[in-house]
Amino acid sequence: MDLDGRVTVAVEAPQHAALGTLLDYASEQPLAPGTLVRVPLGRREVPGIVWHRDAALPATAAQLRPLAEVLGALPPLAAPWRRLVDFAAAYYQRAVGELALAVLPPELRKLDPAQLERRVAKLQRQAPAAGGAVVERPALTAEQSAALEALAESAQPALLHGVTGSGKTEVYLRAAEAALAAGQQALVLVPEINLTPQLEARFAERFPDRRLVSLHSGLTPAQRLRHWLLAHLGAADLVLGTRLAVFASLPRLGLIVVDEEHDPSFKQQEGARYSARDLAVWRAVDAGVPVLLGSATPSLETWQRVQEGRYRRLALEQRIGGGAMPRVRLFDMGQLPREKGRDAPALAPPLLAAIGARIERGEQSLLLLNRRGYAPVLQCGACGWKSGCPHCSAWRVFHKADRTLRCHHCGFTERVPRACPDCGNLDIAPIGRGTEKLQEQLAALLPGARVARIDADSTRGVGMLESQLAEVHAGEVDVLVGTQMVAKGHDFRGITLVAAVNPDAALFASDFRAPERLFALLMQAAGRAGRSAEQAARSEMWIQTWHPRHALYAALQRHDFAAFAASQLAERRAAGLPPFTHLALLRAEAKSAAVAGAFLDDAAALGADQPGLTVYPPVPPTVQRVADVERMQMLLEAPSRTQLQRFLAGWLPALQPLRARHKGLLRWAVDVDPLAI
Ligand SMILES: [Zn+2]
Ligand SMILES: [Zn+2]
Repeated sequence: MDLDGRVTVAVEAPQHAALGTLLDYASEQPLAPGTLVRVPLGRREVPGIVWHRDAALPATAAQLRPLAEVLGALPPLAAPWRRLVDFAAAYYQRAVGELALAVLPPELRKLDPAQLERRVAKLQRQAPAAGGAVVERPALTAEQSAALEALAESAQPALLHGVTGSGKTEVYLRAAEAALAAGQQALVLVPEINLTPQLEARFAERFPDRRLVSLHSGLTPAQRLRHWLLAHLGAADLVLGTRLAVFASLPRLGLIVVDEEHDPSFKQQEGARYSARDLAVWRAVDAGVPVLLGSATPSLETWQRVQEGRYRRLALEQRIGGGAMPRVRLFDMGQLPREKGRDAPALAPPLLAAIGARIERGEQSLLLLNRRGYAPVLQCGACGWKSGCPHCSAWRVFHKADRTLRCHHCGFTERVPRACPDCGNLDIAPIGRGTEKLQEQLAALLPGARVARIDADSTRGVGMLESQLAEVHAGEVDVLVGTQMVAKGHDFRGITLVAAVNPDAALFASDFRAPERLFALLMQAAGRAGRSAEQAARSEMWIQTWHPRHALYAALQRHDFAAFAASQLAERRAAGLPPFTHLALLRAEAKSAAVAGAFLDDAAALGADQPGLTVYPPVPPTVQRVADVERMQMLLEAPSRTQLQRFLAGWLPALQPLRARHKGLLRWAVDVDPLAI
């Protein structure tokens, strides 16, 4: 057998498996890289992708096992797609085969060659999209035109910086139009599944005779396969999706849009912990196509790249229709008279009056409280018992609607006990306030008002979020209580008041990104109010705070993202934090914290003498125990991305043999550019 008879195949095997994930096989025919195959691995047969033909190595074909099957009906995954997977695997320290197969639709691996051939043939028979229908489009503002001209001039990554209502979506639509007109495909990424239907509707309306597909985890396996195939065959013009869509195979890619680029949901939190935003930029640069990162409150990483001139900033300063951002009012909770032994009221009297006035005028209010359930903890007044989770180092949350105590970390749920489990006292009381309680209190404070609540609990069933949003849009709700879920993306026309009920905690959180997230959330929430010019004048955002002079709130009051970003970046530079340094987190999980910690200590010893690299001592994360598993983590810091990458590539393979020395160690993983510390 000659060299052509030998192929290197990427197979799915866990990270650092002893044999690696690029394996050699014998093939009777020369196969193009990117061809889907099935190969024997041990006693099993597994899916694989021909990765390359490695003619430089001596031919040992005689000893190689032959491929089991070639799924030749599927056109090979193209070189740019394989480069993206190679880069992502190397950067996030995963095996190529593991990542390559994990990002394909799971149904693909279940088909035999004949089934796959039928599927592909069926999709290829469908009439190609005609394209080009002219739909009436709104006139562009001067700012939108300027942004589009800049985009047409060069493919340098661009930040589209504009507040809610400034017309970012129209820029996405026109940029996509240009790509489609040039015979290319456009990829649009959104942070959450909830946000795909509305954006999908906008694109479908604008491009009625183009083929548009979505890719997200809410699809059935069959839908996901069909959509993926349409993209891969070049039959879909527009692909809209959540973070996993960044790995869509797009043979005619011409544009990538990342909407709400600052959103933490773009970071995958298990397996290969990739940032879809960062990979989107890499992919666009590699392909030489424009990438548009849209946000009102860009991530500080992106903002810093704009400052350094690596990204362009395309600004949309004006809201469409002349609406202004709402006036921000800080209410100093310290001014309220305190009654001994009583909690501060849910809403300050002036805020309550402002909501009441809106109800009288037939306008809507939105109250933001980022804590679902009725109360975060139950406590016994006699012995001090609290509703802890037996499996986690966290309190169980009291949900009044079904009278349960639920752990939001492991899901452990029980009926609320009738009496204190420790001392039998009947007086066990909720401490603090969640959205359920706020809804109940508002109903009492505003008799006759229609108070609704939208959070992860109220929208658990299929279609429930849509029906609840429809009620708000139809004007059937006076006051809407919600978590951050309602602050994102939804276009509420009747809302003229937004209030953050209790946002202070994030000001002093241990995570250095907490202020950045709070500012983004509040700006986004503020953007829900006053989207028409007529309403803008009476629109307000209220912040109930014990720290009314905090710099974050001062910047928010001026809607001044640049000032906020400058102060945060100055702090991060002084403290040696990203984007001025580069971090990785090594996480370990074990039956005991001591075992997890000992593994990390041993790992640290292996990397201790690296110049420039700082390895911090292992510490527990905010919630150390989840579902009876103890977790520890260790932070690594390097002055440059390259130094960090070089270190990790050499260090991680050495950690695998350590495993055997730590009995009780369950898992370990590295998180490059971690978002939560
Ligand atoms: Zn008790
Ligand atoms: Zn738990």
